[in-house]
Amino acid sequence: DNAFDIVVVGGGSAGLGVTASLLRRRSSLRIAIIEPNDKHYYQPAWTLVGGGAYAVDQTVRNTADVIPHGAEWIKAEVSGFSPNDNLVHLADGRTIGYQQLIVCPGIRLAWEKIEGIQETLGKNGVTSNYLFDLAPYTWSLTQQLKGGKALFTQPPMPIKCAGAPQKAMYLSCDYWQRQGVLDKIEVEFDSAGAVLFGVADFVPPLMEYVRKYHANLVFNSNLVKVNGPEKIATFEIKNEAGEVTRVDKPFDMLHVTPPQAAPDFLRDSPLADASGYCEVNPKTLQHTRFANIFSLGDACSSPNTKTAAAVRKQIVIVAENLLAAKDGREFHAVYDGYGACPLTVENGKVVLAEFGFGGKLLPTFPLNPAVARKLYWWFKVKLFPWLYWEGMLKGREWLTRSTETK
Ligand code: FAD
Repeated sequence: DNAFDIVVVGGGSAGLGVTASLLRRRSSLRIAIIEPNDKHYYQPAWTLVGGGAYAVDQTVRNTADVIPHGAEWIKAEVSGFSPNDNLVHLADGRTIGYQQLIVCPGIRLAWEKIEGIQETLGKNGVTSNYLFDLAPYTWSLTQQLKGGKALFTQPPMPIKCAGAPQKAMYLSCDYWQRQGVLDKIEVEFDSAGAVLFGVADFVPPLMEYVRKYHANLVFNSNLVKVNGPEKIATFEIKNEAGEVTRVDKPFDMLHVTPPQAAPDFLRDSPLADASGYCEVNPKTLQHTRFANIFSLGDACSSPNTKTAAAVRKQIVIVAENLLAAKDGREFHAVYDGYGACPLTVENGKVVLAEFGFGGKLLPTFPLNPAVARKLYWWFKVKLFPWLYWEGMLKGREWLTRSTETK
């Protein structure tokens, strides 16, 4: 009998956290987590690794050690869904049945959208904090650079952790300034977007740091090609009339944030919306067309900022509503779109951007949120990783919960 009460697709932050939360509520549930990777990563610390403020080996654990007790790990890749038959298809040909399904395979890094990058990632001064293997390379490049041109890129939204592209820049700039070499380095931030940060309240404190580091901001500028050996990055720049021109820029260091997309097997399935993400009601996180399916994390269509901080809140919403659906009760848990982005503006200070749907500010603490604080750096480096491993992944909501159950 391979039918589970609940099947969870993806054992990332969302999959492990929601499983732990469900089992704390009801330990008798038969839950399977389908996850192909035998390593689990705490990705939010990769920014710190790139800035020389965190050890990369502290960001990874064996999946076997973080699967919640009482859940079954199916080490396999999901290849498709048959929601009308309550079946998940695996790449190895097996099918798994469920009563309720939770879809959380994250977001895909779409490197193929940048011509030439795959051949040069990890060499020729080309790096990315978005990869476990390369975050340490960001730090070594930062330490090595004594002059020349450093480019930091941001692709079109949505991406996970919308602030991460600029966080990389701030931490490198801070190091260069402390070393006294920043004056010899031309720093440029090329963003495919039109603003520095999507929530206007946080732009002024960030602009202070942009000025402090003499960084040049270039908007509507999208990285499309990298020639590693010649160290040239090609951008498509859109003017106000919408005309696109290509511009080549030489670099000595290039930090790339990859374009991102819904995983193909989800995009090509009946669960997807037009943009490829799992189509949910953003308030309940229930699928809009299949009542026994829920989705959370980077793979769901809810228009929150895609972060582990959002996942922390979404876990409670999904756990409560899924059990309500199972029992035939009304839904009470309502998601307000909370997400958070701790912007590491210097080594030792963070602007903690916390906001919900529509950019509504949702500060956890009664302090002006638009101020860089030492306390929040300590949160980012010490408290948040601990809350992640010991709270969120273990379903200990007394540690992590402050949710909006209305
Ligand atoms: P993930 O944690 O990525 O997990 C998805 C899982 O699904 C993976 O384990 C994957 O192997 C699995 N999977 C994929 N395909 C399949 C398949 N076909 N079948 C089965 N399983 C599959 N968040 C913050 O809150 N604060 C931050 O400061 C922050 N900074 C970040 C900095 C960087 C550089 C990066 C990369 C991310 C950052 N994030 C931050 C974002 C955060 O890591 C993600 O939002 C979070 O991990 C989302 O959880 P998830 O479970 O949806 O996806």
